[in-house]
Parts: sequence; C-alpha cells; structure tokens
Amino acid sequence: MTDAELDRLADLIARALLERPSGAEENARPATWLPTPVRPAPPARGSEPPTWSGAAQELGDVAPSPGRGVSPRFRAATAELTRATRAAAAGKGPPPEQSARAPERSLTRQRAANAPVIDVRVGISKRHVHLSEADARALFGGSALSVARSLTQPGQFAAAETVAVHGPKGNLENIRVVGPARTETQLEIALSDAAVLGVAPPVAASGSLTDSIGGVTLVGPAGRVDLRRGVIVAARHLHLSPGDAKRWGLRDGDRLDVRCGVSPRAATLHDVLVRSGEGHATELHLDSDEARAVGVTTGDTATIVAWRSSSPSRRPLITEHDVVRLVREGARIPANAILTPSARDRASALGMLDP
Ligand SMILES: [Zn+2]
Repeated sequence: MTDAELDRLADLIARALLERPSGAEENARPATWLPTPVRPAPPARGSEPPTWSGAAQELGDVAPSPGRGVSPRFRAATAELTRATRAAAAGKGPPPEQSARAPERSLTRQRAANAPVIDVRVGISKRHVHLSEADARALFGGSALSVARSLTQPGQFAAAETVAVHGPKGNLENIRVVGPARTETQLEIALSDAAVLGVAPPVAASGSLTDSIGGVTLVGPAGRVDLRRGVIVAARHLHLSPGDAKRWGLRDGDRLDVRCGVSPRAATLHDVLVRSGEGHATELHLDSDEARAVGVTTGDTATIVAWRSSSPSRRPLITEHDVVRLVREGARIPANAILTPSARDRASALGMLDP
C-alpha cells in the first residue's frame, strides 16, 4: 500500500466513524463502520453454468468447422460438443488426457437421432480360399479355374473347384476356391472352422498376411500344398463403392459400429473395417460364425450406427480450468490442442504459449 492509499484509508475510517449511528439505532443495526460489500448476483440460466463462468461459448467459437466440402450430416454433433465444452469449462468435464487415453471412445460419434438411416446389404462369407497361380496349378493341374458364379465384388467369382484342408486336429472338405488368382494363397475361415482344424489364426483384414499362420495342407485332385502362412479369420468389413463413400462421408480404413439382425438376437458389431475404392460394391461382409450369432443371412440389411475416422485422433479441447491444472502439474499444453478463448488468454498470461 502506498502512503497516498494509507491516507485515503484513514480518511474513509474517520468519515465512517463520524457517520456512525448512536443510541437505539446503534442497537438495531450491526456495529459496522464499512458498507457491506455487495456482489451482484450472477444471472443464472437454468442448469447451465452462469455466463460469467466464461463457459457459455458455442463450439463454433472454439473450433470452427472446416466449412465447404464437409457433409453437414457428418460434422460433429455441435450441440453435444457444446454441452461437453461447457461442462469442461465449469470444471465438470473429463480432463483432456483422459480422452487422450481412450482415443477410440472419443472418436466414436453416435449418429444423430434425426440423421438419415444408412442401411447396407449383408453378405455372408463362408470359408473359402484364394489361390496363387502356382498353388492353383499344383492343386488342379494345368487348367485355369472355372467360374461357377460371379460374386458381388466386381471381378470376383466362386470357382467350380474346391479343396480339402487338413489341419493338425481335423479336416474340412469342399472349401470353395474364390478367383481370380492372387499373388499369395489365403485361406479365410471362421473361428469354429479353426477349432475343427486345430489351428489358431489371427483376425486380420483380408490381404494382410503379416500375422497369418500356416500349419495346414490344401488338398486338391492334382496335388497338395503345405501352407507356411496365409490362414486368417477375416475381420468383419464393409465394402464401400466410391460413390457411397463420398455420399456418406466415409473413408477407407474407417471403423464402424453396425447394428445387425432382429430381436432377440440383434446385436451391434463394432470395429467393422471400411474397405473402399475402385472395384468395391457396397456390402457388409461377415463370416459364418458372426452371421449365426446375430441371426443374419445374405441379403439382410444392417444399419450403421456409429463410426470412427481413420484420421489421427481428435485434437484435445483445453479450457481455462485445464490450463490452471496443467500449470499446477507442471505440464505443457499439447501442441495440437484447441484452446478456448479464455484458456488462450490465461495460457498467454502465464507464458505457456510459444510466441
Ligand atoms: Zn469381403
């Protein structure tokens, strides 16, 4: 306090003492010589945080949408995120690192109740084998595979030929060959098939054989082929035509939650991999185990209920409250964070922002 301020304070006290009421009045009022400080009651709006909390910002102020080129149907649910932002700003939301710890969850977006329903056709993939040209020759002799019927995916066909598969524990007969020939032989079976054979293949996307296993023998009319690798349980996936991918705002590599079947066996299948590009026709591919579990068959429809982008995880939203906490913990603000305006001010005042 400066001398001038001390003088002013002494003056105020003197004035207050002079104006002090006496007698009966003094008994009626509390003995005070300074006016009771009055803070105006902040306006409250229902259950929302009051406006002075700095929390009442629309998400659009914080994270403007990229604008053109983004389908409005597939933008983040603004109202929901705004609520989350307000809760976070009021100190009630989850801290940012918590959402960083569970990126999958934070990326899942439920489709809005009024969003158009996306139904897709279901196709059940029974156990089958794709053969390399060399393996096809070894199993069936010189002749090329003959087309029994064409499949939904353009260019693919079920061949007339079948093979038997011999595993360490048991055999499977009449495994359909699916053409055309591939660069590497791949046996796609369900987990119950794997149990019959006595092998434990990984669940993997068709075509990615890095983790696949061998240990089985393909047996054809002209010969046998021992597989050192190529056995997988195909991961559930949605083939998506380029047109549908564009229309629905989905991309190759995205993961979906898809509701399948009807009561009492209806279920939502998670982590349905989107495979999109030229040469894909829109169809949900499940294996025979999955189809039986949820009671669907080829030609049924399933409904996309949520999706996760394949792009890197969402940027964390940092509120002023988070900034204060990060300072206390001696932590830094994540480089990719989105800061609310008040958080930016506070961080800047604390020297936490790079110039
Ligand atoms: Zn498929």
